[in-house]
Parts: sequence; structure tokens; C-alpha cells
Amino acid sequence: MYFCGPTVYQRAHIGNARPFVLGMWLRAWLRGLGYDTTLVHNITDINDKIYDAAPGRSAELAAQATAWYLEDTGDLGLGMPDGLPKATESVESIVRFIGQLVDSGHAYPVEGDVYFRVRSDPGYGRLSRQRPDQVEEQEPNALKEDPRDFALWKGNKPGEDTAWDSPWGRGRPGWHIECSVMAEDAFGPVFEIHGGGLDLVFPHHENELAQSLALGHEFARIWMHNGMIGGMDGEKMSKSLGNDVSLRNVLDTWGREVVLLFFLGAHWRKPVDFGDEMLVQAKAQADAFRNFFLAERLGDEAGEGILEEELAAVLDEDFNTPDALALFHAWRDREEWASLRWGLGLFGLGSLAEVENAPAEVAALAEQRLQARDARDFSAADRLRDEIEAAGWEVRDVAEPPGYKLVRRL
Ligand SMILES: [Zn+2]
Repeated sequence: MYFCGPTVYQRAHIGNARPFVLGMWLRAWLRGLGYDTTLVHNITDINDKIYDAAPGRSAELAAQATAWYLEDTGDLGLGMPDGLPKATESVESIVRFIGQLVDSGHAYPVEGDVYFRVRSDPGYGRLSRQRPDQVEEQEPNALKEDPRDFALWKGNKPGEDTAWDSPWGRGRPGWHIECSVMAEDAFGPVFEIHGGGLDLVFPHHENELAQSLALGHEFARIWMHNGMIGGMDGEKMSKSLGNDVSLRNVLDTWGREVVLLFFLGAHWRKPVDFGDEMLVQAKAQADAFRNFFLAERLGDEAGEGILEEELAAVLDEDFNTPDALALFHAWRDREEWASLRWGLGLFGLGSLAEVENAPAEVAALAEQRLQARDARDFSAADRLRDEIEAAGWEVRDVAEPPGYKLVRRL
């Protein structure tokens, strides 16, 4: 599987996390089914957006934003893709690929740039379902043969601090060719699943496909475009997050489990609104699962079977994660401890099933509080309860056997 990754020029937005999360979940599920699954997720570190964001120092910004992306997606707790190729490390292959397109008549150089000849591909528009004669103009340049032609190589311009040698002069690759080449470098000329946001269908994926088909490569067999994240503009902005909808800020404000439950509750094909209301709902779900595992009567999981087939029935139907989430709640109602622990774990939510031990100093405060209560010194007991809460824990009295239990505050 090849899932298009971020263009690295700023901290990733919550919407950038959706294909990452989907790819990682799908990999985990397919591996569980026994498929030999490899996920490659590229880093676009050569792109106009980076040159525009940091004139003269794009390489520095791209390196910084790459580190941010790896840190922020790493903090989702889902592990990492098998390969994270960078455009800057793929230029040699890209130049070779463009050379083959020029040699076969599918591309032509013009004053230091190289363009793909859309006219050479009668099926162009196949992915985005546009008639080839009605495709909109891309990358205007009066020197192009046809307004629809798009750049494979761009000659170096003033203010662009990175450039590589090529048969057409110093310059750098266009965005679309980067992904054709990184995908084929990883998998060869054909692979199973190509993922990315719905906004990438045209022109990015249309052009990736055209480039690879032009060389007789089958390329991706299945396209998996996730719906976009909406609801983040203007007045609807989140109170909890201010104007900062970076994945970093959402993680820091709400925690990784809430982020994952937000994504889990929406079908990957569909757009989903993002905002406080959705986050509050996701948090309520996290609390419900955590409280279930913290409940007094912790179940005996020893004899329980894992209800894998029930989960397969919903995930095998177009990877329907909202139905999987509904099933997890049903398992909670049915007290299927072991299945629920396993199912949450598949989606990186196993932490909701972990009962954490309180640190020694919090346990000591709880002991003092118990003694104060036994001595009927309720004001001291209340003060100790406040101290425990300030430390991030909640003390719950337990009737049978008499005592208490410490629970991490949510
Ligand atoms: Zn891409």
C-alpha cells in the first residue's frame, strides 16, 4: 500500500492525520488476516509550497517539518509505516523515469522544464472521470504545447535553494512524478492499494497514474480516497483549540485516544466535521471504555474466546470502522472483556483497557485519607481528596471489601 504523505512546510493539520491513521489501521487489520502487508508513506520535501513558505531556506524548513510530522504521527501510538521515502532522496530515480517518458514521446522539454504530453494519453481523465478534452489547465506556461500538460521537471528559479542536475538542466521534480517514482521504487510497476485524501484525485493521482501507464506499468490496482475533514473555518472554530488545528495541538489538548476515536467513528470514505462537539463525543466514548475496564467487578477473561468473526463481518465490508466502534460498545454491554481488549488494541486503543497503578506518593495520600475518614476527620479527608485530584487521580470509595480505589482522572 502506498499512501500519499504530507508536503512538509508546517506542522501537520488534523486532516493530514486521516490517511496516516487509515493506512496504519488497514495494515494492522490486513496483517491480522494473514496478508503480507507493506505500507509506504512518502514525505514530499520538494514542492512549491515549501519554496513559497521559506524562500532561500526551504531545505531547512522541510527537515524541521519532517521531524514534526514523524513526532506528531508517532504520538498517535500506532507505530510507523514500513517505508517513509523522501522526494529529496529519490531524485536519481525520478530523473531516470522522466528520461523514459521523454524517450517514449510522452514528455517534452521546454527551456529547462519538462512537461507530460497529456495528448499522448487518450484515456487521460480516467481516475477523476473527466473527459480528456475538458480537463482544466494545469500549471500555466505559454511555452507548453497544450494547457493540460503538467510539469515533470522544473528549471531552477531564483529563491529556490535546492536543485539537482538533469539532462534538461538544473532544477527539481514536479510533485506528481515524485509519487509515481517513490511508489514504484518501493513496489515495482504494480501494487495493490494507493491511498490519499479525496482532494488528491485531480490532478495529483490522475497524473501519477498517467505517468506510470505511459510506461506500460499497471500501477495501483485499488484507489482508496478518504473523505476530507471539514467544519474548521471561521466562526465554527473550536473553543478548546483556538485557531490551531494542528495534530500537535489536538493531541496535546485532547490526548491520542480521543483523536483515534474521532477518526474511528467516521467512515473513511465520508467527509467528517471536526470541532469541539465531535471531540467531546469521542472523549465520552474513551471514558466509557476506560470506566468499563476500571469497573469494580473486573471480569475473568481466562475462558473467553475472541469474537474475531464479529469484527471481521463489519471490517470486511469496506473497512467500516463506525460499525466496528458500535460493535465494541455492544461488547462492552455484553461484558466481552477479552474481545473488547483485543479489538481496541487493533486500533491503537489498548491503553483504554489498561488499569494503571497510582504512584507511591498518591497511594500514600489515599492511605492518609482512609485513616482520616476512619477517625471521622472529614475536613482532613476532603483536603486529602483535593490533593489526590490535583495530582491527577481520583479516589473512589469501595464498599466491599471496605477500602478505596485509585483511578487516573480522565
Ligand atoms: Zn502523492
